[in-house]
Parts: sequence; structure tokens; C-alpha cells
Amino acid sequence: MNIINRIRADFPALEQKMNGEQLIYLDSAATSQKPKSVLSLMEEMAGRTNANVHRAMYALSDKATELYETAREVVREFINAPARENIIFTSGTTASINLVADSFCRTFLKANDAIIIAADSHHSNIVPWQLAAQRAGAEIRVLPISTEPTQGRGFTAHLLIEELENLIDEKVKIVAVTHVSNITGLVNQVERVIEIAHRHNIPVVVDGAQGIVHQAVDVQKMGCDFYAFSAHKIYGATGAGVLYGKRELLEQMPPYMGGGDMVETVTYQKTTYAPLPLKFEAGTPNFIGAASLAPALEYAKWLKDGIVQSVDGESVSVCDVVEAEQKKITEYLTEALFNEVGDVQLYGFEKSTDASTGVKKELPLFTFNIKGANAGDLAQLLDKMGVAVRSGLMCAEPLLNSLGATGALRASFAPYNTLAEAKNFIACLRRAKQMVL
Ligand code: PLP
Repeated sequence: MNIINRIRADFPALEQKMNGEQLIYLDSAATSQKPKSVLSLMEEMAGRTNANVHRAMYALSDKATELYETAREVVREFINAPARENIIFTSGTTASINLVADSFCRTFLKANDAIIIAADSHHSNIVPWQLAAQRAGAEIRVLPISTEPTQGRGFTAHLLIEELENLIDEKVKIVAVTHVSNITGLVNQVERVIEIAHRHNIPVVVDGAQGIVHQAVDVQKMGCDFYAFSAHKIYGATGAGVLYGKRELLEQMPPYMGGGDMVETVTYQKTTYAPLPLKFEAGTPNFIGAASLAPALEYAKWLKDGIVQSVDGESVSVCDVVEAEQKKITEYLTEALFNEVGDVQLYGFEKSTDASTGVKKELPLFTFNIKGANAGDLAQLLDKMGVAVRSGLMCAEPLLNSLGATGALRASFAPYNTLAEAKNFIACLRRAKQMVL
């Protein structure tokens, strides 16, 4: 069996038919499918190792606690955080960013201060900062993107990091950026953002919802102060995620929520808080979801470091095979969207794109419109052909609006997708286009 098929066999969801057609799942940027290792852990914990964590003096609770805390160690290692105290389990990226926006800003943001957010942000990295700014009477400043059209084929949509210096003054208390945009699929040079912000002693929050999937993340090398991601986009459960934070900042920040598990002692008048990381984990956590991060990240690690034997006994790197397939898909789509489908406006080209030769993309994430066609109509027609793609604003209304769009289609590919699926997708898109235009 070839390696991509072997990977596909790990994901039962891919075997389904939809509307009578073999499912082609191209919405992994919204949520990835789960491998069998994750599904079996979730089933085992729901059906057997089901006891509240951290609280009881009996073996079943110890077992559940062990799975929960083991996952914390797996996460720590995966992003190279210094210690378990840096890893807070949350319900996802959105909750992680809200935690920082609320707790950090309550301590460090005053009236007339400012927060910088990036123009390519997901709503989850915009709205929490607006709420914090409104509470404090602070202002939001926006790090812009380039909006030049390229050869009538769409928009570059790069984050203009060089503008950051002009936005910074003594009022700015925090900078929030996106690692990889869920619209453009471009990788932002967050290290540059961090270097500039840190020169002014301003901490940086990185929304890693997509970055954790596509990049090797080393939070110490990156130097970020906070990094947020969700389990469900990287093969894990929904309703679980991570906030990495630098210890000195987390220590200074007040609890975000109060309740069980985050306390040391409680009187009717006053509470002392549990040490990190539990100070930020009030109430019964989604312990099955958090524990799912262990097999999920092990799977992601295997995709990067795994070695398998080929049919003729040779050792083959899983990563080499996956990267080669993803590259083929990306190159094929970059060409086929324009030459086989046509009238396409694509949002987000690599900086290295040569204006005379066309466009270039590095990650297999394509957000686009077909001129004159409604994205929602196209998505519905594709669904009838078994192809699942995203349509609408994709929680990035300001970004799409600044690129002149009120909606778009997005096809996002994962290591379990094949070039054959990409070709099928293009054939279906051509048919859908003919039907609506
Ligand atoms: N940030 C980005 C860049 C995303 O793509 C997403 C989800 O699509 C989020 C934040 C929000 O993630 P979640 O809904 O898992 O909290």
C-alpha cells in the first residue's frame, strides 16, 4: 500500500460517501479528521477511564489524571515549552486568546493605551481584543496587509510587518498576530514581529490555530509570549486546546475564571490560587479532549519523523512522501484554478511570486472566488458531487472585505488528501461553474 493510502486508512471518516459520491474532504483548515489512535483513546476514556481529574483518591481518577497530564507533557515537548507550568489547557484557540485578552489586559491595559492586531486575523484574534479595549477605554491599531492585485488573478495579501515600527509608541501594551492565515494560507514571519515588539518591551500573542498544523513550532526559538492553538485542527478532539504562556507573565496575570481546581484555599471572603498551570483551569476540564492531544500530536510527529518500510523493504520517510504529495497538489491547483477553471480571484500569493509568470503558493490552502459566481452556490453544488469545501466569510470578515470580497470558497488540504482528489475537485469545480454562470 502506498504511504498516502496507508495514512488515509487511519482516518475512518474519509471512507464515507456523501450524496452518493465518495467524500473528498477539503475543509481540514476548519477541522481535521481524526486518526484511529485518537478515536480509540476518546472511546476508551468515555467508556472506561471516566473519572474526574485531580480530585479523587482512587485509581480510576489517577488513571484519567495521568492521561490528562501526560498530554500536557506531550504538548510541552511538541512546542518545546520550558515546563508544564507554561501549558494551559483551554477549550481551543478562541478560549486561549480570550484568556490572554481578558486576564493580561485587566492587569496591563489602561485607558488610552493601545493594542495592535494584524489585518489578516481570524475573528478569534480580533473580537477578544475589542472587548478588552472597550473595557479599558483603549484603542485598536491594525497592522495592514498589502492589497495590490496581481495580474488580475487576485491579491497578494501579505502582512506588512515593516509597518509595525510606525504603529508602535508608548501606548501599545500588546501585539496579536497570526502565524498562518486561515484565508491566505501564508506563513507570517512572526519572529520579525516578535523581534520588533520586544525591542519596545511589548509582548506578542501568536494565533497558532493554523500554524501548529503547517509549521514546526518551537516557542522558545520563536520567542513569542503566548501561543494559542486548538486540538481539533491537528487531529485531536473538538472543545480542547492550548495556551502556551511565558511563566513570568502568567504569574502576574489574575485568574480568568474562578471555580474548582484553580484554588489553593477558599474562605467566604477570599481565595488563594493554585499554582500554574491549574490557576487558569477552573472547573472540570474537557479531560478527554485534552488527553486526545497526546495521540493527536504523536500522529503529527509521526507524519514529520516517521519511517516506514516500502513493499521492497526500503526505509521511506513519511514526511518526504507527504511533502512531495502536498507540493504536487499545491502546484497543480495553482495552475489548474487559473487555466482549467478560469475567472478565478485568489487571495494570498507568496512574496516570491513573479508577476510575469503568475502566482506561487506554498501551503495547500486556497481561498478564492470565481468572478460572477456566488461562493455559497458553488459550495452547495460541490457538496452534491461529494466535495466538502468551505464557503462564506470564514471568520475573517475584515480581511475579505479589504480584498473586495463579501465571501469566498476555500479548499484546504491535509496529509491524507491526494493529488487525485485535487484533480477531481477541479473537474467538479468546472462543472459547478458551468451550472451557475
Ligand atoms: N484562528 C485561526 C487562524 C483559525 O483558523 C481558527 C479556526 O478556524 C481560529 C482562530 C479559531 O479556532 P477555534 O474555533 O478552534 O477556537
